[in-house]
Amino acid sequence: VARKRFGQNFLTDKQVLSDIIDAIAPRQGETMVEIGPGLAAMTALLLKQLDHMHVVELDRDLVTRLEKAYPRERLTVHSGDALKFDFGAIPVAEGQKLRVVGNLPYNISSPLLFHLADFAHLIEDQHFMLQKEVVERMVAEPGSKTYGRLSVMLQWRYDMSLMFIVPPTAFDPPPQVESAIVRMVPVKQQLPCDAKRLEAVVAKAFSQRRKVIRNCVAGMFTEAQLVEAGIDPSVRPEAVSLAQYVALANLPSQT
Ligand code: SAM
Repeated sequence: VARKRFGQNFLTDKQVLSDIIDAIAPRQGETMVEIGPGLAAMTALLLKQLDHMHVVELDRDLVTRLEKAYPRERLTVHSGDALKFDFGAIPVAEGQKLRVVGNLPYNISSPLLFHLADFAHLIEDQHFMLQKEVVERMVAEPGSKTYGRLSVMLQWRYDMSLMFIVPPTAFDPPPQVESAIVRMVPVKQQLPCDAKRLEAVVAKAFSQRRKVIRNCVAGMFTEAQLVEAGIDPSVRPEAVSLAQYVALANLPSQT
């Protein structure tokens, strides 16, 4: 029985499962970790192509099931909360990076994405099932209605693409919303900036989406500083690009 508090919606559609595995394209010898394996719908298919993988699961009953279903040589089960999991502790071969996958519990998707961002330098790529609306915000371009804090902060660290949309009928029980698969690849050359500082500036900028950027960041930056960062002070925060936010965050604040 699926547990609502753990955000459990199990994938049952064989075609969707096969499309996800194709998108991930696992290769023998890679180090892969799946977040929230549940009843192992994805895990079982991944293990057809990998000798071994890691999973992180919060629900103890599912942990017990997984440990019974697979020998340790094939599956390392980490029992616990992915939000607190140290992804840096998973051993990887010299010159290799971690591949992260998961049909994520939607109730914790934003904090989980931000937690994983701390490990971006160790990660090859991430493939996640998320609420379609969240994926749209992640990949949104400046000028779009869905462009905001999540877009700027994640695009600073990752190249992202919406791979395909998944209908509620692919799950048991079906979720209320449409879902989508997103691919996230850490950028090679990140624009230099302090993460906390950028986060603070972007949070302030998008705190009042309907106002112009000059008013949104009033007290923090002067109009002259906005111009110095290449930003037109009279546009709305959703018209400001990632590079412009980074330039602004690298200027000293007034307060
Ligand atoms: N991967 C399975 C599938 O596709 O059928 C299950 C997906 S279900 C949407 C989310 C899974 O994440 C559940 O197995 C749930 O128990 C687990 N989960 C929920 N919160 C978690 C957390 N904080 N850390 C790790 N796993 C979690």
